[in-house]
Amino acid sequence: MTKRVYIKTYGCQMNVYDSARMTDLLAPHGFLPAPSPDDVDLVILNTCHIREKAAEKVYSELGKIRQLKIAKARRGGDMLVAVGGCVAQAEGAEILRRAPFVDLVFGPQSYHRLPELVARSFRYGGAGLSDTEFPVEPKFDHLPEAAAVQGVTAFLTVQEGCDKFCSFCIVPYTRGAEYSRPVAQVLAEAGHAVDSGVREITLLGQNVNAYHGKGWDGRDWGLGELIRALAELPRLDRIRYTTSHPRDVDEGLIAAHRDLPQLMPFIHLPVQSGADRVLAAMNRRHTADGYRRVVERLRSARSDLALSSDFIVGFPGESDVNFQATLNLVGEIGFAQAFSFKYSPRPGTPAASAAGQVPEAIKSERLTTLQELLERQQRDFNEACIGRVLPVLLEKQGRHDGQLVGRSPYLQSVHVTATMRLLGDIVPVLISGAGANSLSGSVDRASAT
Ligand code: SF4
Repeated sequence: MTKRVYIKTYGCQMNVYDSARMTDLLAPHGFLPAPSPDDVDLVILNTCHIREKAAEKVYSELGKIRQLKIAKARRGGDMLVAVGGCVAQAEGAEILRRAPFVDLVFGPQSYHRLPELVARSFRYGGAGLSDTEFPVEPKFDHLPEAAAVQGVTAFLTVQEGCDKFCSFCIVPYTRGAEYSRPVAQVLAEAGHAVDSGVREITLLGQNVNAYHGKGWDGRDWGLGELIRALAELPRLDRIRYTTSHPRDVDEGLIAAHRDLPQLMPFIHLPVQSGADRVLAAMNRRHTADGYRRVVERLRSARSDLALSSDFIVGFPGESDVNFQATLNLVGEIGFAQAFSFKYSPRPGTPAASAAGQVPEAIKSERLTTLQELLERQQRDFNEACIGRVLPVLLEKQGRHDGQLVGRSPYLQSVHVTATMRLLGDIVPVLISGAGANSLSGSVDRASAT
């Protein structure tokens, strides 16, 4: 009998990928995806623990789901509520205590057992099952072949977990130790995506450039080698990867940027701070100069490489001088995009109890200053594109008639005046406008012919 499942995804692209795989796993068991939680048979909240108050957002959503579950029960129906992802991993028992109507919690490493867990929960109803172990066997060996991908872009998780233990980050505790999928498995999934019409694949990993998957020659391959193999897939025009760690940018990856036109000239390379003292307290295992050198090597391999980064301001012990060092580094490097946040303690991480917590008002002031600089750089980068012809992969319809939206090689969103029949194509676009977050233009007939 057909059942309906609603999956709400929080956080990063890896969770988006995981949610898609959960859909694939449940489909053979009769679950069809639903666009809203109303009247469904199964609700899954696939949670993220990175941002502030992540757990509170989950509890607030659970409050609404509870009402739907009660309403369905009054109509004689049954709604199973499951919480997965990193919040479930970090505080599964607490979720079952605070929200006893939750039937099932499962961690990011055990969702391959979802059909079995769901079947057991339906059978025994309301038993509050919990599966947050880190299994010995990687879940990827148990996932079914991904369903045909809709659209021309796809995410593909190649690496999971992290061994870096930055002192502010919960990931090593929720996703576990570093694991890389074997090369053959990644290529099979990528080939399947390309056969479904995908032209751009973004390789995902918490620390993606620490990738060291088993190659077909028995050696561990680095990310650069993996990308080289992927670049040989006919009809795969674009490859991206995220998120990288500066320490794991090796020669193989730099060479891939130099040699492979399919590898887009854009890298998200978090630095977090420009002050060595703060970087050491963060346990980042790189210095500000080390970061500068990595960027220099990347840019000498690919001169048009654009960068984005992550910043944390107000980390415990950060002084005015330390913050100024961050501004200096931003000024020197020049970022095309960036994400910046005030430090907020994550329970269970070493930095949460560190001395020298910075007052909220100072954090806010620093964040405003940093964001003004980063926004100016992003605007400048976008404006410098005006008058250039950029290849744009047209991914979807725009909000206006006769408009399609796609991405430039530098991951900028581009609004293009173009006919529907170009959807899914990579077209040369003459950029005529630039906003804070996007570009606009029209198909350049001269280059197109
Ligand atoms: S490298 Fe990234 S994922 Fe790993 S601990 Fe540091 S911030 Fe977290």
